[in-house]
Amino acid sequence: MRKIALEEHFNGPGFEKYLSAVAGEFDPAVLAAVEKLLPEFDEKRLQVMDACDIEIAVLSQTAPGVQQETDTGRATKAACSVNDFLAAQIARHPKRYRGFACVALQDPVQAARELERCVKDLGFVGALVNGHTCGTYLDHPSFQPFWEKLMELQVPLYLHPGLLYDEPHMFSGRRELSGATWSWTCETATHALRLVFGGVFEKFPQAKVILGHMGETLPFELWRLDSRAQTTSAGRAMKQPPSEYIRKNIVVTTSGVCANGPLLCSLLELGEDSVMFSTDFPYEDALVAARFIEEAPISREQREKVCFRTAERLLRL
Ligand code: MN
Repeated sequence: MRKIALEEHFNGPGFEKYLSAVAGEFDPAVLAAVEKLLPEFDEKRLQVMDACDIEIAVLSQTAPGVQQETDTGRATKAACSVNDFLAAQIARHPKRYRGFACVALQDPVQAARELERCVKDLGFVGALVNGHTCGTYLDHPSFQPFWEKLMELQVPLYLHPGLLYDEPHMFSGRRELSGATWSWTCETATHALRLVFGGVFEKFPQAKVILGHMGETLPFELWRLDSRAQTTSAGRAMKQPPSEYIRKNIVVTTSGVCANGPLLCSLLELGEDSVMFSTDFPYEDALVAARFIEEAPISREQREKVCFRTAERLLRL
């Protein structure tokens, strides 16, 4: 079945120094294989896409991108240049690639302007942010201009994992739990819940946030979030239970999770129009992801929605 994939990464020129910050989370051999594929846009990437029946890949600058750059001017410049670079790659394969904008949220007003340029001039379909920006999360009031621009342009924000701001004690002596195995999941799920509990979706009811990795465990937690929110005054003060915001404002992709249990849970808890196929190329095996969704025990209609219909609608392809 033809597919659209939304969490597909590349590394742009000059971003090697940012990528090296996450290098410690991988074995050298694993990292070397990934690093070979990240800057590639032709034969190898297209071969994998063809083998998976991926018609369109929405490409994004890999983590941590500019999110950890402490020099605001440098971050803004780097985001702009990598967006131009991506636009040039898409122009060489216009039928196969789309783009998510890289945005330097160190300056939210400038980031909003860059998002507008990317969507209106370069034809990008949204933005992808790699976690907190130098310790600030997207529920912070300073990001209002950026959220307003997302609403005005009617494009989604992909909230992708990034580095933890600090190393919590609970991971001490267990380095193997940090990174993609577990700590990034905690970080990203918490970031998404900050948006829910911080009133971002109350303020911007049309907002669409995409979470990878089958929703970073959140689909599994909806009932408990609602139940326990009622035990705090801040939770009771929310206009809707947390699950309502998650169902309405958050959509998830299958990136990096190729198991029927989490897929069925996400479809059941979030709804059939809230789950989209992705592979997390080149960090994950795209062929495994494609086979998984082809063989998953869901109806043809559900598979079509997951593979391409929901992405087509959300990204207006
Ligand atoms: Mn990813």
